[in-house]
Amino acid sequence: MKISLPEKLAAKGGKIQIIINYEFKITENGLDRSGRLKTKNGWITEVGQWFPRMCVYDNVNGWNTLPYIGVGDFYLEYGNINYEITAPSNLLVFGSGQLTNPKEVLTETQIKRLELAKQSDKTVFIRTADEINQIQNKNQKQLTWKFFCENTRDVAWAASSAFIWDAARINLPNGKSSLAMSAYPIESVGDNTWSRSTEYAKGTIENISKYLIPYTYPTAVAIAGPVSGMEYPGIVFCAAFDMDREFWYDISHEFGHNWFPMLVGQNERVFSWMDEGFNEYLNYFQDQTFNNGEFDSQKNFNRNLVESRNKYVLTESDEAIMNRPDVTKLSNRYALAYVKPRIGLMILRNEVLGKERFDGALKYYAEQWKYKHPTPYDFFHCIENYSGESLDWFWRGWFLENWQIDQAISKVESVADSAKGFDNAIVIDNLQKMPLAVVLEIKYRNGKTERTILPVEIWLRNKTYTYNFKSDTEITNVAIDPDKDYPDKNYNNNVWSNPIFK
Ligand SMILES: [Zn+2]
Repeated sequence: MKISLPEKLAAKGGKIQIIINYEFKITENGLDRSGRLKTKNGWITEVGQWFPRMCVYDNVNGWNTLPYIGVGDFYLEYGNINYEITAPSNLLVFGSGQLTNPKEVLTETQIKRLELAKQSDKTVFIRTADEINQIQNKNQKQLTWKFFCENTRDVAWAASSAFIWDAARINLPNGKSSLAMSAYPIESVGDNTWSRSTEYAKGTIENISKYLIPYTYPTAVAIAGPVSGMEYPGIVFCAAFDMDREFWYDISHEFGHNWFPMLVGQNERVFSWMDEGFNEYLNYFQDQTFNNGEFDSQKNFNRNLVESRNKYVLTESDEAIMNRPDVTKLSNRYALAYVKPRIGLMILRNEVLGKERFDGALKYYAEQWKYKHPTPYDFFHCIENYSGESLDWFWRGWFLENWQIDQAISKVESVADSAKGFDNAIVIDNLQKMPLAVVLEIKYRNGKTERTILPVEIWLRNKTYTYNFKSDTEITNVAIDPDKDYPDKNYNNNVWSNPIFK
């Protein structure tokens, strides 16, 4: 819809009021963004993307008018949003931001328990299983729940008579706090599922706040319902019947989106990888950190196993991460939006820039672009500016193109020199297009093992490089990328062993 204004809106602070009357039916299946679920104690209703929005006007594209069509989610402008939900008085309502009229809609007991939860690191019940279906206010048929969300891209909400409600304080590194809350039906109770949701939300948000920048919303609400996993500012919809590790992933992944794209307003409609891939990268650290590594991916999940990683990263497709999510094959979507960008960031961190420089650069990017609309190039520039290193070769090969990796050892010579030592030459080929530094592990006859990193610049003019060096003793084995940190197309040509010692 395009609205032509009767007169020009004044620049710098001009105001206009637009009133739009609209209505829609909340269907049971709302494309996994909204929906309704019938439980023993009543329906759970989850509502997202429920009011008309103005297209983003940014200073790169002007008006961004691409419609929402499923994949790629939404590109939204920031603002302060006041909204009210009027519902039958047997329903509990949760929404993005602050509930501004608690005394009108909550019971005295609930308000008292909420005050306790705000001081508690342990989860506190606000409404217990025994209190399900309790009327919020016996004197009124309907109640109006009022919410305010500041500087936000969006607001979503959920309502049900079936909710159990619990909460715990989130401690933020800037000395502030927020409140983690969960609302779920009695069918979802369980120690491997929703009974730990608030603990997971608290852990996730405290971790990322420390690593990146502090969480910004007054509450963080997890709703159990029909939507399998969807993020909104300060509220997430997760599957009512997820369990075990999948449940942890659902909660920690969806809350992770409060940084990308909620706080850093990337255009996920076009660059899906900037919110999903960055968030998957954050998930990796949450897995390692939460509850002393309870969900450490390497121990309990195949997220980082070489085979499953390479299956996604090593596709021969022409499609690259930078291709729009609605034009790439659906079968490539998970690889291009989730897995490959995550692996790319991990290679940048572990092999290219080092942990300290990369962590600082990512934080710098988040700080520079919070509440704004960065493009991929703004991200690339932030990482380069902070780290002081040109990474154009990496952005091109990994993000703009789908260049593959195959580093190989083609020849090794270890020849005795005149001074009782050895002259060595290791010939390395870059058989595919992607240039990367070469991590070499060299083993010697005297039992010594050495690691050397040959910088990416060895590929500036050539696809073959000879590494010459001297040693006291003869080489017995050489391996490229011995830890399999790179998704290399063929690991068989990464190793060499001296035939003399076989
Ligand atoms: Zn996601």
